[in-house]
Amino acid sequence: MKDPITVDGKFVLRGSVDLIEHRPDLEVLRVTDHKTGKNRSTPDLIVGGGTTLQPVLYSVAIERGLGKKVLAGRLFYTTTAGGFVEHAIPINDYTRGQGLQVLAIIDRAVEMGFLPAAPAERACAWCDFRPVCGPREEERVGHKAQDKLADLLALRALR
Ligand code: SF4
Repeated sequence: MKDPITVDGKFVLRGSVDLIEHRPDLEVLRVTDHKTGKNRSTPDLIVGGGTTLQPVLYSVAIERGLGKKVLAGRLFYTTTAGGFVEHAIPINDYTRGQGLQVLAIIDRAVEMGFLPAAPAERACAWCDFRPVCGPREEERVGHKAQDKLADLLALRALR
């Protein structure tokens, strides 16, 4: 399927799912995103504060596009660094809602044109854009008023 999928009537998703498995006895699917790095997932991770969207959003898109229920979306760490472990997220109304909430928050920020630099703690240390932002961006932003960042903080709080 090459066309993008619209979910929740307004969010257009385009991407490439690594693996979709079909369980014929229950007529359900499982969606997998392969990871090559370290396993940084927490046991209760669903969207990881908006940083890990593939399991839930791929599942929502696949359900919409193929008209079949997805039982679980999972991260599968396929290297020695990742320990060959999997993290499966059940796909249900709650987890679908969490994925759509991430999209709603991002959409609102884009619509308002409010996309401030507001790195999470120690995020700059691993970021490829550090040469652009400079070495003290996290410290500089820490001095700014935090009251306008409620949406972003709510996003980061999603497990
Ligand atoms: S280096 Fe810049 S882009 Fe990267 S996390 Fe820090 S503020 Fe954000």
